[in-house]
Amino acid sequence: MASLQPVRGTHDLLPDQCRRHRAVEQRCRHVAELFGYQEIATPIFEFTEVFARTLGDTSDVVTKEMYTFEDRGGEGITLRPEGTAGVARAFISNGLQQALPLKVFYHGPMFRYERPQKGRQRQFHQVGVELLGVEGPAADVEVISLGARFLDALGLAGRVTLEINTLGDQESRDAYRAALVEYLRGHLDRLSDDSKARLEKNPLRVLDSKDEGDKVIVADAPVFTDYLNETSRAFFETVTKGLTALGIPFVHNPRLVRGLDYYSHTAFEFTTTELGAQGTVLAGGRYDGLIKTMGGPPTAGIGWAAGVERLALLVEGVEPAPRPVALVPLGEAAEARALTLADELRRADVVVDLGYSGNMKKRMQRANKIGARAAVILGDDELAAGVAQVRDLDSGEQTAVPLAELTAALGRGR
Ligand code: ATP
Ligand code: MG
Repeated sequence: MASLQPVRGTHDLLPDQCRRHRAVEQRCRHVAELFGYQEIATPIFEFTEVFARTLGDTSDVVTKEMYTFEDRGGEGITLRPEGTAGVARAFISNGLQQALPLKVFYHGPMFRYERPQKGRQRQFHQVGVELLGVEGPAADVEVISLGARFLDALGLAGRVTLEINTLGDQESRDAYRAALVEYLRGHLDRLSDDSKARLEKNPLRVLDSKDEGDKVIVADAPVFTDYLNETSRAFFETVTKGLTALGIPFVHNPRLVRGLDYYSHTAFEFTTTELGAQGTVLAGGRYDGLIKTMGGPPTAGIGWAAGVERLALLVEGVEPAPRPVALVPLGEAAEARALTLADELRRADVVVDLGYSGNMKKRMQRANKIGARAAVILGDDELAAGVAQVRDLDSGEQTAVPLAELTAALGRGR
């Protein structure tokens, strides 16, 4: 029955995948905290304008990918497609100007109506960081190095490439935009319809087009680097020098632009060749214009977001689930005692799996199947003697242990 399938582009995360996701999240949290960033959680839906205004009306996200609906009260609502706009909105609504510079990280589900394929879903998860209120290039270095150290912590050092570019300041972008528009006008008849529309509203976004025909035209377009003014050049140089000082390798890709409209100066992406076509695992940039666009006080900002599904496929050293101790009660009295025994053990932090039915053989099979490290066998005879048989399921060794000493014998945790 079709309705028993998950909605196209959505996935269940079974326990193994949840563990991989959690490893990605926890390592992000750990590294972000090392940099002095604190967690923030914004709602997964916002008024539609929060995204429509900030992401720009020519971005793919706004024109094609948003999950937008009217709620029962007639409000225009959108499921968040990304995290930055919500954080910026929260910064304004909570009047956090006094808290600048504000350093936060977040994680959670995002929603985009995209064509599902490997590494591209309609509900996916991101972890991300934002640094608000720092205008100088030191912020760019910090945020990029936070990303690099996070990827290191996942075991990805040497498996990802950092590409970086600058979009310059407003003056540089204006100069470049003029040159780009002139170039693209010369190829108007061969541009995709989407890019024709972008040419009018936001020509920089043509550079980010996924259309194959557009890509050919874009390959020969003027390069940003040639239009940077002195200030923008110096800014970028400080960023790259900082990365070099930290031993973070990067490639300058003058064609790198970000899909969203509010970026200036630094743009960057970490990519891998291990995932096929969807190889970008972490991407971000500076968005000094964003908060003002939303109606807040002019506030510099820079951040990144990383795709958890893609990183979960790559992460190394994920902790396996803790191995439980299986309680195997045989007989009615033993069942009753097992209930309280399990409770005592769990209070002492021992992971306990309590079987619910079957003979000894069945229960032992289950204990092996769930990877239990030990079985605690409790029959009527044992109960009468105040002991349990503890069988180490790796060595097969079995000993009688007084119930009062069970917790000590089994140790804490695993
Ligand atoms: P693309 O150009 O691939 O569409 P994007 O510019 O839309 O990427 P961002 O908005 O920068 O992507 O999102 C940051 C990261 O989130 C991406 O690099 C990717 O790892 C992940 N991501 C984005 N969209 C999806 C999706 N639909 N499914 C899974 N992961 C995604
Ligand atoms: Mg996209």
